[in-house]
Amino acid sequence: MVKIDERQSRVNALCGKMNETYKTNLMKTNDRDVIMHRIPTRSFMLNYACSGGIPVGRISMFYGPSSTGKTFTALDCVGQAQKYCSKCWTPKAGIYDPIQKKYIKEGCECGENRETQIAYYDIENSWDEEWSRNAAKIDTTRESLHFSNPSFTEQCIDTIDALIRSGDIDLIVVDSLAALSPSEEVKKSTEESVVGKQALLVNRAWRVWNSAYAQLENEGKKKPTMIVINQERLKIGVCFPPEQRVLLANGKRERIGTIVNRKMNVEVMSFNEEKGIFEPKKVIGWFKNGFADRMVNFKLKGDSCGYRSIRCTEDHKFLTEQGWKAIKDIEIGEKIGVKEVEYLDNFRKEFTLGCLLGDSQIRYEKFSPRGRLRFLHCSWQGDYCKWKASIFNIEAKTKKNNRVTADTKLTIGYSFLKGIKKEKGVISISDELIDKITTMVVAIWYQDDGNFSGAHAKWGYGKCSIAAKIMEIDTMIKVAKKMEEIGLGKPTIKQGVGFTWNGEESKKFQEKIAQYVHPNMRYKIRHDMPYFNVVVPEYKENTVLHFEKIFQKEYYVSKAKSRMEKCDIEVEDNHNYLVGNGVIAHNCYGDPSTRPGGEGQKYVTSMDVKFKKNKYEFSAKENGIPVWTLIGGKITKNKTATAQMEFEFALAINRFKYHGMDIKKGDILEFKELIKLAELHGVIGKADDGKKFRYKDNEFKKLSDVYESVVYNEFGVEVLKMDIMEALKKSEGMIEMK
Ligand SMILES: [Zn+2]
Repeated sequence: MVKIDERQSRVNALCGKMNETYKTNLMKTNDRDVIMHRIPTRSFMLNYACSGGIPVGRISMFYGPSSTGKTFTALDCVGQAQKYCSKCWTPKAGIYDPIQKKYIKEGCECGENRETQIAYYDIENSWDEEWSRNAAKIDTTRESLHFSNPSFTEQCIDTIDALIRSGDIDLIVVDSLAALSPSEEVKKSTEESVVGKQALLVNRAWRVWNSAYAQLENEGKKKPTMIVINQERLKIGVCFPPEQRVLLANGKRERIGTIVNRKMNVEVMSFNEEKGIFEPKKVIGWFKNGFADRMVNFKLKGDSCGYRSIRCTEDHKFLTEQGWKAIKDIEIGEKIGVKEVEYLDNFRKEFTLGCLLGDSQIRYEKFSPRGRLRFLHCSWQGDYCKWKASIFNIEAKTKKNNRVTADTKLTIGYSFLKGIKKEKGVISISDELIDKITTMVVAIWYQDDGNFSGAHAKWGYGKCSIAAKIMEIDTMIKVAKKMEEIGLGKPTIKQGVGFTWNGEESKKFQEKIAQYVHPNMRYKIRHDMPYFNVVVPEYKENTVLHFEKIFQKEYYVSKAKSRMEKCDIEVEDNHNYLVGNGVIAHNCYGDPSTRPGGEGQKYVTSMDVKFKKNKYEFSAKENGIPVWTLIGGKITKNKTATAQMEFEFALAINRFKYHGMDIKKGDILEFKELIKLAELHGVIGKADDGKKFRYKDNEFKKLSDVYESVVYNEFGVEVLKMDIMEALKKSEGMIEMK
């Protein structure tokens, strides 16, 4: 059995070995030559994700919700930095070969073995001496570890500034930025103003520190490495009450309170600002943030009952035509973004105009541009009605009185037809719409309201007419002129009756419209006219961004505490979700631009590591005692290498046995992840028969057998890590070695 301390020292030494493999961490990025030292953490997986470790001489930010491993990882960097020479960033102990069981090189690369000067700012008051020493392997007795617990924020910002400018400090950890808080009197006032003041302070901190870095850069001096932790505080005033509905990807609506309480793994509808599309996105965080003193109720036009009604905290941001804005700053009459359905292409718009001139009606929602088209026909015209319905991808239904009817889906698309007005029993049509009249429009109108009085001798080609009893005379004149223009013959107009074509004009009329006359309505034209032939373009539903006016807004206070509870979810990538029937709401969690104190602030970090909340508070228990916890996340920004790499490792939080190994508090377990990584880079391959797995010269039936062999072998894990490093070195595009 391997003693843990030996294993530990080997892991540490391995980082050195890694450096050697990397030729002392000299890395070259694709676009420019940058010699970048890195402080490797004890997690191979994290180092892999961030291309070797924390970039030296740069600012890295660890962010994410509380209890996700940010502080531990920063402490681990402190512990590791103590073991490295701060001049050449190679291990002071030298390079140890676990196979030969000896140091193949003693001391650091440059031979100076320079002590790393570290400043640790514990603003959160969360320093735990025992944990730091045992779990994070920090030598807390060293004089080079400078510990600070600042009582004033201004003091903290200024001392860090002085430290950076001195050029004598190697590593600065700030835990955490979100805990920077202004003076006591501000704390006593409302939460909102604290958030605002805090934002100003954080902005100031970044400005000051950046200028210090810039000064060192200009003077050509060595810059310190900085790790800034940014806790996402749970006391954020940007939330919804539990009963607010969230639109799920499957179209259903769920109370946000239910999603949060059950930590539901659901996909919600979300708006992709870059692409301008609506898409499903996973919920990756669930938050309950206490209770609000008051909320805001606001109403928008357009819902099944005439409006959408939303309740939220007053800081909640919504998408306006000018960008994201807090609801408290959005006035009545301003518009905010909603999801709408649109399916009317040019063909269907034209078709609808015909229907509307004929028997159909559009039923608009109250106060809303959204409406639906209704078809209604008697039983012998049933097939014709079904055909019309099929064009809109809906089914016609036969009612009790044998009439056939269908309603299209609600859309904002019909609003272009508002130029058809029915006032005081008189129909008028705008010039713009009259101009849109085509042969198909008249053909549909004729099938609905037209009459054909037969092909007898007197009339030659019969007599076509369209009833328009309540159409305004001016409109009738213009419509008749338009019909003649597009070759539909010259009808005569009779106010209070409609349009009539004589025999000769009826021939012209029928020849043109016949291809649009459905077989069911063929009795309305002569038998020798061309056949029905309409090419209907494919029905497509698009969700589109639409801006809708707020027409009511008021503050809301309830004595029922449960109604004032603040809930929020974090949505991956887009950082927004839809509430109500499709109102786009911002989600503050996880979005760097809205992190506490991060209002509009551009962070000038080299690397951002986002820590994620685990689904399980403790990942494993032995005899009821939690023994390890998962720490994981994503490199969301990496200016010197590939970003968006994910990592996960287990951290032992108590002592336990694992495959015969004695695991101690603070040990890192990532065997399974390593096996996956080894497979990814071809270190573990398929044997010749394609069924078995091959690792080195051995064959294994299952991947789990490789795992067993690696874990039970005294140096298995370390050797596997080295094999992965070798494979990485050979692989293209990952990290280019100098
Ligand atoms: Zn050195």
